Amino acid sequence: MKKILIVGGGSAGWITASYLIAVLNAQGRQSVSVSVVESPTVGRIGVGEATVPSIRQTLSRIGIDELAFMKGADATFKNAIRFDNWRHPESPGFYHPFDRRASDLSDGVAADWVASARNVTWADSVSALAPLSKEGYAPKALDWPSYGSSFPYAYHMDAEKFADQLATHSTARGVQHIRDDVVDVAFGDDGNVSAVRLKSGSLIAADLFIDCSGFASVLIEKALGVGWVDFSPWLLCDRAVAMRVPYDVYYPGRIKPFTTSKALSSGWVWDIGLSDRRGRGYVYSSAFIDDDAAEAELRAEEGEHCDRLDVRRLRFRVGRRQKFWSKNVISIGLSSGFIEPLESTALYTVEFAVSALCDYFPHGEGDLEVVRRKYNAVNEALFDEILDFINLHYCLSQRADTAFWREATKRERMTETIAARLALWRRKPPSHLDFDKPLQLFSQQSYEYILYGMNFKGNDTAPLRQAPVVISKQVQKIVAASRQKFPKHEEWLARKLDAPNYSN
Ligand SMILES: Cc1cc2nc3c(=O)[nH]c(=O)nc-3n(C[C@H](O)[C@H](O)[C@H](O)COP(=O)(O)OP(=O)(O)OC[C@H]3O[C@@H](n4cnc5c(N)ncnc54)[C@H](O)[C@@H]3O)c2cc1C
Repeated sequence: MKKILIVGGGSAGWITASYLIAVLNAQGRQSVSVSVVESPTVGRIGVGEATVPSIRQTLSRIGIDELAFMKGADATFKNAIRFDNWRHPESPGFYHPFDRRASDLSDGVAADWVASARNVTWADSVSALAPLSKEGYAPKALDWPSYGSSFPYAYHMDAEKFADQLATHSTARGVQHIRDDVVDVAFGDDGNVSAVRLKSGSLIAADLFIDCSGFASVLIEKALGVGWVDFSPWLLCDRAVAMRVPYDVYYPGRIKPFTTSKALSSGWVWDIGLSDRRGRGYVYSSAFIDDDAAEAELRAEEGEHCDRLDVRRLRFRVGRRQKFWSKNVISIGLSSGFIEPLESTALYTVEFAVSALCDYFPHGEGDLEVVRRKYNAVNEALFDEILDFINLHYCLSQRADTAFWREATKRERMTETIAARLALWRRKPPSHLDFDKPLQLFSQQSYEYILYGMNFKGNDTAPLRQAPVVISKQVQKIVAASRQKFPKHEEWLARKLDAPNYSN
């Protein structure tokens, strides 16, 4: 049996522990023993409130029931992200929903929409979740099964409670939880890590070490010195200031089943509704605004009711590891890389990494290089793909009202992949053939929502047809049927989770 030691008990550490124990020890097999060392003094990052739909499959594999998860983590539904003020300072919001209904992806609907007067938004033309989100519907009926829906939906949740819940779940299934600090690392003759020394003095040996120590990067960086690929030339934001707004301080009238991202003077602010509070946070660039001014801008954005609420200030660097797996150490979570949370991708990178690790798991003895190389390649590709997609949001903005936006929208801030794709899409709408990697988190459908939400125009000089796009009949039918079946978001939460219904 392989012995795995995970350093760090944030969301990354506990997703990794619970997933490995569930998947590798499935069906009575006992392939691994898993221990988690969590520092009692270094706190978790405490943010990470929005997810993407893959989280449902991950939680289901881990073996947690949907309602138990939602109750334990104060979770709500997320059907989409709405982007406000990204194109111009006052431009109307547009949605990036998780569904795209208008049949198969090469159906020519994009070409029709591009040539039209664009008086129905792209999202309303092809997505049922976009209009349903606007109207405040849950993505499923009250009696639909755990994680089941005809819609791809995700969640908003409390990051601390989520990690605690996974810790309880994992330890009940045999994961050992050690509350101590890793202070030193011992190496074998082969250069592999043989053990970690804890503050209490004990030495813990293992076959495989997983670094989930967050930005501290205790093993992958401090012990092994693995380098960093810097993404800051393409993404300027490096700080955040975050705030929790309880509903008994201020209730905004409903709990939106979508994340809002609104562009501000030097970055953007998130708005995430949980079952008992909202999470707000301003992601900004320290080169263009100082911390006090950013906090003031966040408070002004939220309103006077937040005057007495505390904020948390966070610093981060954007980029990824040069190698995710080096020697017998694998970095997962913030120790492996971070890209600003505009599309809620960080927990996805954890889900992806741990499922790839199960696929490439070194069950036998012998040379690991062949699996290490492949594991590194797929994780590298994922981070680079996310960088491109996040970069797209800034490249398409036409804002020039502040120094930040003038800098973020310069040609030299555009990745080469995005430059090449935009050149192509000025000639033709995106199609699946334009995406050459088999594993794509952000495929044609996601790119279309951002491109057309930002009103991207091609070079096509043919006269516009000026005909209104007719919303796909299929979409209209699904929206009408869903209005009959699905309760409003607050009602679903109140009835299924016994969450207080603040709108009553
Ligand atoms: C501003 C911001 C917003 C974000 N929003 C989102 C979002 O909406 N969606 C999303 O998916 N992600 C988001 N993220 C990312 C998300 O928070 C993280 O990916 C996720 O929480 C995983 O963090 P982690 O477990 O890697 O690190 P952490 O939560 O920082 O955990 C690190 C752990 O390591 C332990 N540790 C550290 N040093 C030692 C040591 N020497 N010995 C023992 N233990 C040690 C700590 O005690 C802690 O338990 C956001 C991040 C930031 C900065």
